[in-house]
Amino acid sequence: MNRFFVDPSDAQGDLVRIADPGDVAHLVRVLRVRPGERAIAVAAGEELVFEVLRLEAAEVVGRVVSRTRPRREPPLRVILVQGLPKTDKMDLVVQKATELGVSGIVPVHTERSVKRLEDGRAEPKLRRWRRIARESARQSGRLAIPDVREVTDLETALQAAAQAGSLLLFPWEQEGGRGLREILQAAPEPRPSVHLFIGPEGGFSPAEAELAQRAGAWRVSLGPRILRTETAGLAALAMVLYELGDLGRPGEVPG
Ligand code: SAM
Repeated sequence: MNRFFVDPSDAQGDLVRIADPGDVAHLVRVLRVRPGERAIAVAAGEELVFEVLRLEAAEVVGRVVSRTRPRREPPLRVILVQGLPKTDKMDLVVQKATELGVSGIVPVHTERSVKRLEDGRAEPKLRRWRRIARESARQSGRLAIPDVREVTDLETALQAAAQAGSLLLFPWEQEGGRGLREILQAAPEPRPSVHLFIGPEGGFSPAEAELAQRAGAWRVSLGPRILRTETAGLAALAMVLYELGDLGRPGEVPG
């Protein structure tokens, strides 16, 4: 069944309102739904099966048939702090991290990130990445859309994560002595979230690794092979959600 994210204010009571222009166009022009047909609206962690009542130019209104709260979001918030990669690798990172269960993505400028998105150029990229996150969340049956935050710098991201009381994990391929598995299996005391810091193609500088340690981050190895920047974040995210989250456990996939 087709799924659409709606604003909670459009999903009160027995009626649901699809008002996003792209979604309305998709329902009316692509799916050509008819009154009586069913689809799913997702709002504030709930899934509402609805029957289409009427289709108008700017909205589709449906009558709610059922309202459930499936367990489909990870029990742990993982935020991926991604060193800005070259080209459009970020599209892939956003799409795949969303499928895996990331809760937030923070693009960061680092010493070696080739691409710098100064204000004017960041906006269109953020809009694109947020569209990709929304579509990937819809496709994978998620009940929440990961938030792609404003581009910032590494130091700001480290400080914000530390102030949030998060578990800071800083994959650093020079780290020979401690692996991610060791930290995750050491059963760190429960934290509100985990932040994963991934460098760009050129990696983090020693000074950045030093900065991370001072901020309370655990510098960890992801294993004996060098992973590309677009692989490293996804691999680390999968490891964290496997060990501390719901990956690898039985789950109720969407109908
Ligand atoms: N220094 C790498 C090289 O020699 O090609 C470049 C960095 S790697 C392409 C991009 C990022 O992925 C790194 O900054 C790190 O965060 C992460 N990473 C990749 N492989 C890793 C590994 N085996 N252990 C820890 N982190 C790794």
